[in-house]
Amino acid sequence: MSATVSVLSEQTTNPLNSSMLSDIQSGRLEALSAQEILTWSIKNFHPRIILSCSFGNPEGLVLLDMMHRIEPSSRVYVLDTGRLHQATYDLIDRVRDRYDKNVEVVFPEAQAVQTMVNEHGMNLFYESLEKRQLCCRLRKVEPNRRFLANLDAHVTGLRREQNVTREEAPKVEVDSDGRLVKINPLVDWSSDDVWTYVRANSVPVNRLHAENFPSVGCGPCTRAVQPGEDPRAGRWWWESPDTKECGLHVDDEADGSGI
Ligand code: SF4
Repeated sequence: MSATVSVLSEQTTNPLNSSMLSDIQSGRLEALSAQEILTWSIKNFHPRIILSCSFGNPEGLVLLDMMHRIEPSSRVYVLDTGRLHQATYDLIDRVRDRYDKNVEVVFPEAQAVQTMVNEHGMNLFYESLEKRQLCCRLRKVEPNRRFLANLDAHVTGLRREQNVTREEAPKVEVDSDGRLVKINPLVDWSSDDVWTYVRANSVPVNRLHAENFPSVGCGPCTRAVQPGEDPRAGRWWWESPDTKECGLHVDDEADGSGI
């Protein structure tokens, strides 16, 4: 593995202060590269910053690799919905071994999932948008919110070209409650940029990508795509593109939109 550089030496605890807010609000960070954004973020927030990685998209693994090179003790977590593919679980363990890194696994609240399944069935998500959103909310959105409540910042692999709902995503933003900083270092990357980095750095990725799964989510809600199809066509393929979000990247899903 290539040499790593620690940025922790000069660092103390860093709550969101006026200097950071000024960096964010001025738009200055938008001009920085992905590695520069991550260096700024880790310097300001580590260890209260964490990478959100689904282990189902190459973007998260690219960021994990970059963050590990900047700071070997950088943190990563995965939401285990209980319905992930075996290939995703295998990749989590591969990453643990390759980087000698603890992947923090976050589970949904067992009682809430049990009640939902007993009320609506095992495969409720196929029955209506509302039931699919309920499942995503209980298995993803609420555990995610609970977990991030104790942190200052999180890093995501969002790219603007992934979906109509992501076209306006900035590189750094503050959530609507003004407390949690969201870092999106790859927003201006193309899919080719991502795969070039993966190949150049031998980054481990989900083996289902080689079976025409560009994006790997939960087993029942992901399928392979045909040549020429939109890369996200395999996620919740029975829904229209403007509802295809699980809610993790939507500020206010009070009306259920985007979950
Ligand atoms: S992607 Fe499907 S199985 Fe996974 S949480 Fe959402 S609805 Fe449930």
